[in-house]
Amino acid sequence: NPSATTDTKRVLLAAPRGYCAGVDRAVIAVEKALDHYGAPVYVRKEIVHNKYVVESLSERGAIFVEETDEVPEGARVVFSAHGVSPAVHASAAARSLQTIDATCPLVTKVHKEAVRFASDDYDILLIGHDGHEEVEGTAGEAPDHIQVVNSPDEVGKVTVRDPDKVVWLSQTTLSVDETMETVRRLRERFPSLQDPPSDDICYATQNRQVAVKKLAPDCDLVIVVGSANSSNSVRLVEVALNAGARTSYRIDRAAEIDPAWFEGVSTVGVTSGASVPEILVRDVLEDLAARGYATVEEVRTATEDLMFSLPRELRADLKAAG
Ligand code: SF4
Repeated sequence: NPSATTDTKRVLLAAPRGYCAGVDRAVIAVEKALDHYGAPVYVRKEIVHNKYVVESLSERGAIFVEETDEVPEGARVVFSAHGVSPAVHASAAARSLQTIDATCPLVTKVHKEAVRFASDDYDILLIGHDGHEEVEGTAGEAPDHIQVVNSPDEVGKVTVRDPDKVVWLSQTTLSVDETMETVRRLRERFPSLQDPPSDDICYATQNRQVAVKKLAPDCDLVIVVGSANSSNSVRLVEVALNAGARTSYRIDRAAEIDPAWFEGVSTVGVTSGASVPEILVRDVLEDLAARGYATVEEVRTATEDLMFSLPRELRADLKAAG
């Protein structure tokens, strides 16, 4: 509809969107560590997969490194929300690093499942993206028992020792629909495939996908705020398109919005990934208002009130300091 006027232009704003409990906790952990111990505080990998968050924390004195061997002996290092393998804990201990583990408790839950099934000698099929930090961490819990399955198309390549002793687990930030398709195909090959004891795809990932699915069919364009390396943000674009959005783009910030996207667009959906601070969404809404999309309707499919307490090591030090 190229004649979309201001009257028909509107924004549907997904809720829930943005920060999940695990990201909130990890970011606050770095902020509190900077306040309490003073800069610099080292952080292994991006604390959460968001450019703005990483830049803001860097300005406050956080130093982001790829591996623990870049951290000076004895210094303090925070492990990111995505989790680390036992090998990383060991190498940190070998360098006498003081670690603050900001691994999301919902990632830790998957690690524990992996350890348990491996100790029962299962073949574990970990559905997830090879090379993603979370997958490296989880797979590192039981490298001899875990194989990574990236997509439904990879199911044919899987080989197991005993088809009656196979379980699937997953990365926390996948597309629910695609994962279920992978599981369906795996079960065709291995009818006694076991399910994880509880959902590995976390509540935040699921809720954000449900919300964007609800608004997408009414949208000519869905804008997802989130960084390129943020798995759950990238999934939101796919989910929006699959659910019927005419177009969908992921952006890190409002400045990346392209005027060409708005040709004939009446309804714009907006959402953000679990690592995205709300200020970036506010900027996008302001930009859209300036383009005539000033009416904002919230489309809410769930409310969230989960909160996690700070990492144990940090809590202890903060408490000791009164
Ligand atoms: Fe935890 Fe889910 Fe957030 Fe990842 S997306 S940090 S698993 S709550």
